[in-house]
Amino acid sequence: MSKDFDIIVIGAGIAGASVAAHLAATHRVAICEMEDRPGYHTTGRSAAMYEPNYGSPPMLALTRAAGPEFWAGGFLMKRDTMFFAPPEQEQQFRHLMGFQKGMREISVAEAKRRFPFLADGYARWAVLDEHTADIDVDALHQHYLKLFRQNGGEMHCDHAVQGLEKNGQWTVRTTGETLRARIIVDAAGAWGDVVAEMAGRRRIGLQPKRRSMAVVPGPEGEDFMKWPMVGDVGETWYCKPQSGKLLISPAEATPVDPHDAYADDMTLAEGIARFSEAVNYEVTRVERTWGGLRSFAPDGCPVVGYDAKDDGFFWLIGQGGYGIQSSPALSRLAAALVRGDAPPADIMNEGLVLADISPERF
Ligand SMILES: Cc1cc2nc3c(=O)[nH]c(=O)nc-3n(C[C@H](O)[C@H](O)[C@H](O)COP(=O)(O)OP(=O)(O)OC[C@H]3O[C@@H](n4cnc5c(N)ncnc54)[C@H](O)[C@@H]3O)c2cc1C
Repeated sequence: MSKDFDIIVIGAGIAGASVAAHLAATHRVAICEMEDRPGYHTTGRSAAMYEPNYGSPPMLALTRAAGPEFWAGGFLMKRDTMFFAPPEQEQQFRHLMGFQKGMREISVAEAKRRFPFLADGYARWAVLDEHTADIDVDALHQHYLKLFRQNGGEMHCDHAVQGLEKNGQWTVRTTGETLRARIIVDAAGAWGDVVAEMAGRRRIGLQPKRRSMAVVPGPEGEDFMKWPMVGDVGETWYCKPQSGKLLISPAEATPVDPHDAYADDMTLAEGIARFSEAVNYEVTRVERTWGGLRSFAPDGCPVVGYDAKDDGFFWLIGQGGYGIQSSPALSRLAAALVRGDAPPADIMNEGLVLADISPERF
């Protein structure tokens, strides 16, 4: 296999796989992934929700722009979302109603009709979003990996990047081979700043934040798979049906260093207790848990674009808790910017401001 490429993408999560799939149509592209398979870290650990009212302003624009492609590709399965606000979350409720698009406030009585397990007296307000969906994350990720291969891209798993030197072109030292390319795309997820530092950049202050998940049995004799996703507007718990079980998260955002994340049992227990106050269902058994890292830039917006040094180092990090739902649009945008093309008009029409995601803002 050739060791010289136009572009080397570091990381085979959804960010790296999706941008590489587009770029491989026009360039010789390799992906370097440190694990033995793509998707081992955050991409394989999400809640798999598409919620176009969730995220920082650039992520809202990207997520909304991704909608048509998601639906056309068959990657979404409709699932409504209901958010409840107890009296102490009035401020968050008003904030949500101020920026949302397409959601509607419903009475608590209507919320209870739609979700009879809602505990009496918990919610003061309720909001319904009928534009949300479950994402088939594995199918989406595999779609991009397949497109990447079909376009002639080379996947190098077990290739942890350990050094990056620019000498005319980039030399990428890995635990496998040493590869070379004109352009580097940093799609290393929680390790985004670690990779950037290898390339001689100043860290932007990317902060991985742990989030835990528990899988519990649903109520017996109930068709709970049709439940909406439910949670509080203050984001202290949420729950959704998945694969014949219920997924519950305490929705924590605990700052940690990049690592192979795992669930925090105490945090999970507290989250399940909050869920139990809101929902008339007693969780008696936790069947499985996992943790993942949602990584944020200091302003909560993604970091996408060439580095100011203008030496072929491209940032694609900081997708936070929205990296799957935004990926179809974000990958098209990032591929256009890597090539030096104009950003896709449909994405800009959703109100994206490139300066809000540019690495030059740090
Ligand atoms: C609990 C939880 C729930 C979530 N729910 C949702 C949701 O409902 N909807 C949504 O849209 N998003 C959700 N997210 C966020 C979403 O999962 C992430 O934004 C997205 O997966 C980030 O993708 P990524 O490719 O940037 O990162 P990753 O998937 O982590 O990929 C980065 C890759 O880079 C590799 N790498 C790192 N360093 C190196 C190196 N030196 N050399 C080679 N390879 C390297 C890693 O091994 C990894 O495979 C959730 C996240 C969590 C944790």
